[in-house]
Parts: sequence; structure tokens; C-alpha cells
Amino acid sequence: MNLVIFGAPGSGKGTQSEKLIDRYGLHHISTGELLRDNIARGTKLGKVADIYISKGLLIPDELMIDVLEDTILRNPECLKKGIIFDGFPRTVAQAEALKGMLAKMGTEIHAVVGLEVDENELVDRMLQRGKESGRSDDNIDTIKKRLEVYHKQTAPLREYYLKGGQYHAINGNGAIDTIFADIAKAIDDGATR
Ligand code: ATP
Ligand code: MG
Repeated sequence: MNLVIFGAPGSGKGTQSEKLIDRYGLHHISTGELLRDNIARGTKLGKVADIYISKGLLIPDELMIDVLEDTILRNPECLKKGIIFDGFPRTVAQAEALKGMLAKMGTEIHAVVGLEVDENELVDRMLQRGKESGRSDDNIDTIKKRLEVYHKQTAPLREYYLKGGQYHAINGNGAIDTIFADIAKAIDDGATR
């Protein structure tokens, strides 16, 4: 089973991914973590990524798609476990590329878990996280930009996956465990059928 965990910045993708990995034994690919790791190590990719991330912008599709494909191809074993994609795709172009890539590898996206969270809750969570995370993008100005970018570039994916019949809307407000129970129910009730 391959899953996409989808939602606005601060919607809890990373948090719920950890729980999904525990329960379903999936391999985690988080593009946000991957990029932050590259920034911390000062790689060539990290230097480019830092410019976009600190401004609240997306890394250009062409680069991001290459990085994603490379990540899978370097560890093809992860396809056997099943992958949870966290933070990718973030544009329709990325979704199309992912579809093509997985088809070439003989597989597909079985379900998309869409975490739907109120905007004021998103801002509160990111401001709270910013106090401890040291992330360059968890400050109020960058948060606003990220939300704007999300609405313009990423939110259309909801329609895209609804049309494909893969989208499962989850209320992402409230307690972590309640949200996770809803996700597990959506998956167990036939997201993989
Ligand atoms: P959450 O809190 O729900 O885990 P997030 O938006 O706070 O989500 P990440 O997914 O970690 O955080 O992404 C951080 C940043 O990394 C993005 O704002 C963007 O600049 C960059 N990034 C991550 N994934 C992609 C992608 N698929 N395409 C382009 N840029 C990306
Ligand atoms: Mg994240």
C-alpha cells in the first residue's frame, strides 16, 4: 500500500505519518525533512532549497521531482514495504510525475489522506512549533506566505485526487489520537480496495 498524506502546512502530516508507519509498517518519505537534512549538511541541494524554504516558497517542480525519483530509486526495497509520501506531491505537476514514476515501477497511489484543519489552528500550531523547532519558516510572515502558496499551488490537488477516487477527507482539528483513529478507519474501511 502506498499512501499520500496531504494537507496545509501545519496540518499534522509529519505527526500522523509517524503513527501510520507504526501501524502499517510503511516507509516514510518526507520531502520537508529530506530538504532540511540537506540544509543542515550544507549540500548543493540544501543551499538551493534554503533560498526557497526561508521565503515560504516551493522548491521548483523539476528539481523536486528529480530528488523524489532519486530517493526511491536509491532504495527500491521501500516499494515492497509501501511508501507514505509526506509533503509530496505539492502541485498537480508533481502528482502527475509521481503517478508516472510509480506506474513505471509497477505500482500506484492507493489512498490519499487529506488532513483538513481550520486556518487559525494552522497558524497557532506553526507559531507554537516555531518556538522550539528553530525552523526558518515557522515565523508569522513566512507562515502567511506558505498558506498563500498552499491555496494557490497545492490545494487544487484535493480536486485532482477526489476525481481519481483516492481522496479521503479527515477532520484534522483536535486531538492527535482522535485524528489518527479516523485515518485508520478510512484506510481499513476500503481505501485499499
Ligand atoms: P506539516 O507541518 O504538515 O508536516 P509543513 O508544510 O510545515 O508541513 P514540510 O512538508 O516539512 O512542512 O515542508 C517544508 C518546506 O519544504 C515547504 O514549505 C517547501 O518550501 C519545501 N518543500 C517540501 N516538500 C516540497 C515539495 N514537494 N515541493 C516543493 N517544495 C517542497
Ligand atoms: Mg512536515
